Amino acid sequence: MKKINIALDGHAGGGKSTTAKILAKKLAYIYVDSGAMYRAITLFVIENDVDLNNTEAVENALRSIEIDFKLNEQNQHNDVFLNGKNVEDKIRKMEVTARVSEVSAIKEVREFLVKKQQEIGLKKGVVMDGRDIGTVVFPEAELKVFMTASIEARAQRRLMEMKAKGQEVNLEEIKQNLESRDHQDSTRKESPLRKAEDAIDIDTSDLTIEEQVEKILNLALQIIN
Ligand code: C5P
Repeated sequence: MKKINIALDGHAGGGKSTTAKILAKKLAYIYVDSGAMYRAITLFVIENDVDLNNTEAVENALRSIEIDFKLNEQNQHNDVFLNGKNVEDKIRKMEVTARVSEVSAIKEVREFLVKKQQEIGLKKGVVMDGRDIGTVVFPEAELKVFMTASIEARAQRRLMEMKAKGQEVNLEEIKQNLESRDHQDSTRKESPLRKAEDAIDIDTSDLTIEEQVEKILNLALQIIN
């Protein structure tokens, strides 16, 4: 059967990664969480106190960073590894979330990760979610979806997710973080978040995860068959 690449882009907290994960499973495709890669670099920057205004320091840091995805046997998901250590939990914490948009705006960081992401996509059969997948990483993706949702719906979903993981957060803090990341991600100079011209819009404010998956799966199957 023909294999395709699927690009899922959109604002923070729009349910992209949950949708992408299930979709990839249904198609027996590889799921790649590109945001996790930006988060892993942000964690390295925080832990090693990298000066983001110093290009040489950033380049040195990137040279010593190894990012991999490995299957977590317990939950059957791919966890992100930074220099051999599983950092899946650490990268979801507020300290990282609060700084990731600043780190991901850096040209050298984007070049480093886009190259890796494009390599993963060479063999096709990839579902990747992020901000610039349809515009920069896979401009030739056979299916591009741009997921939107109201800020209220996104903040509520993120609150439930974080509470389920036992993290102490409140709705207002999450809302502010989502709005500030949306603003930074959409206004940055390097590959800002925007909808690719040939992407299909899906507003998920009133959709369940199952409905989101179903819609995109149907679109994918039309192309594959
Ligand atoms: O998808 P997630 O919310 O985990 O992404 C975290 C951050 O990583 C985003 O707010 C954005 O700053 C950055 N990002 C990006 N390009 C991508 C994926 C994520 O700039 N393709």
